[in-house]
Amino acid sequence: MHLYRGDVMLKIVLLGAPGSGKGTQSLKLVAEYGVPQVSTGDLLRHAVAEQTELGLKAKAAMDAGELVSDDIVVGMIRERLDQPDAENGFILDGFPRSQAQAAALDVLLSRLDRPLQRVVHLEVDNEEIVQRLMSRGRADDNEETIRNRLAVFQEQTEPLVQYYKDQGLLVAVKGVGDVDEIFARIKAALDAA
Ligand code: AMP
Repeated sequence: MHLYRGDVMLKIVLLGAPGSGKGTQSLKLVAEYGVPQVSTGDLLRHAVAEQTELGLKAKAAMDAGELVSDDIVVGMIRERLDQPDAENGFILDGFPRSQAQAAALDVLLSRLDRPLQRVVHLEVDNEEIVQRLMSRGRADDNEETIRNRLAVFQEQTEPLVQYYKDQGLLVAVKGVGDVDEIFARIKAALDAA
């Protein structure tokens, strides 16, 4: 794959459990490749803080660690990818999280003629994930919500690993260790692919 820095077309998904480091690594990718991070979690938290109609609808599911409905998040993604800064690429962080969302993304990107280049799977053990989330202290990081979010991830999101493997898009990266080390692994995986 050709990743021209400065004149980049980086169109990727970061796939991983909550707490796997998607957000942290996305920000580093933004700095390196100059394409925007598109995080449905951030967009939803913003909507909740602003108390928009969409935010009010999403809040209960977020507090419970459930997925917000597909039509809400797919609508948000459609709007976000329509912004001019996403024309040269994007780092999708926390989306898609279900088969239905992945299918909707395929349709959306083929319409925009901007197909995905890679899906980076950040691999982190469950035990490590629970420890990280327990120490993170975000509003939706209490123990019961964490347990539920992990179960939801395993049921609904993890099958996407196979989905993207089948499409030949998946690259797996060990998400454990030093943040910069993990970032170097991601870059190597993208450059090699
Ligand atoms: P995150 O910041 O990605 O961990 O997301 C926080 C919460 O926002 C999740 O636990 C879900 O309730 C909701 N959320 C974020 N992204 C999605 C998505 N793609 N589909 C459904 N719900 C989402």
